[in-house]
Amino acid sequence: MRGNPQSLSWKPVDCVRCSVPAILYANASPDLELTLTIKPRFLGLGRTAIIEARCARHRTQLEDPYLGCPECSADRPGLDVFRRALGSEDDD
Ligand SMILES: [Zn+2]
Repeated sequence: MRGNPQSLSWKPVDCVRCSVPAILYANASPDLELTLTIKPRFLGLGRTAIIEARCARHRTQLEDPYLGCPECSADRPGLDVFRRALGSEDDD
């Protein structure tokens, strides 16, 4: 992960609530780019971590980091074979 100039400096406590490991576990895409931004909460009461996910290959912002990039999923040969087996390909 690269440094994020818009983020507060990282503290060990941020990792406790950080969901990045869970996202990486759910989505093994090598093109997944996660950006963690730590922002102070309203009135400075604590901190909140915002995670943004992008696909480096398709340059798209991902709505759900846990699902990953839909285009990458479509590109995966394993899934393609699966789809063909279901007969959903157009024959024209
Ligand atoms: Zn992608």
